[in-house]
Amino acid sequence: MEYVFAPLIPSLSVAGSPLRFPLRRVWCIGRNYADHVKEMGHAALPEAPVIFAKPADAVVADGGTIVFPCATGDLHHEVELVVAIGRDGFRIAPEAALEHVFGYAVGIDLTRRDLQAAAKAKANPWEVGKSFDRSAPVGTIRPVADCGHPARGTISLRVNGGLRQNGDLAQMIWPVPALIAQLSQLFELHAGDLIFTGTPAGVAAVRPGDSLDAAIEGVGSLQLKFAAA
Ligand code: MN
Repeated sequence: MEYVFAPLIPSLSVAGSPLRFPLRRVWCIGRNYADHVKEMGHAALPEAPVIFAKPADAVVADGGTIVFPCATGDLHHEVELVVAIGRDGFRIAPEAALEHVFGYAVGIDLTRRDLQAAAKAKANPWEVGKSFDRSAPVGTIRPVADCGHPARGTISLRVNGGLRQNGDLAQMIWPVPALIAQLSQLFELHAGDLIFTGTPAGVAAVRPGDSLDAAIEGVGSLQLKFAAA
């Protein structure tokens, strides 16, 4: 097979392995921690998970310096547990959901909050606020064989050393098996898919030159720096 130009295969590193994890699609869950739902101004908890997506080439690996995203005056960090799917499935039962997980990683759902708010106000789609270039930093994937299925543990994010977000995975409204089950009612999940599982409270703006340091107990960490303006 030859292509008219070289194809890009986005991928992530895997802890303890020389093999790369090839990325297929990036699913994201919104409003999965009650304290974040509240800080975003919603009176009630959602009745079902809020689902959106980012392109796979929006994923940025751990440890780099990236260009500050364009077209925003209010770029927010959202630290999230990321599930890496390792086995295809459709209409997966919650009891069988964890069998489809290859591993876990720390991710940051970067959000152009000003553009997202404008889209929400007009009942428009969220892509301009969520699915931009380099909007999905993700750390090294830790395989299930190594870390199990973390259901509790601290999830935190620091900006220039200062603690901004500090929650616990146990606060998720829909835990990982429920998210996989519900996503797979709407989409065929495939090996290589990632699922961002929502963020705890404390989201706030970052600026050019800022350094982000995210961590999830039992999973790992993720460092990211924005280039100066
Ligand atoms: Mn998010």
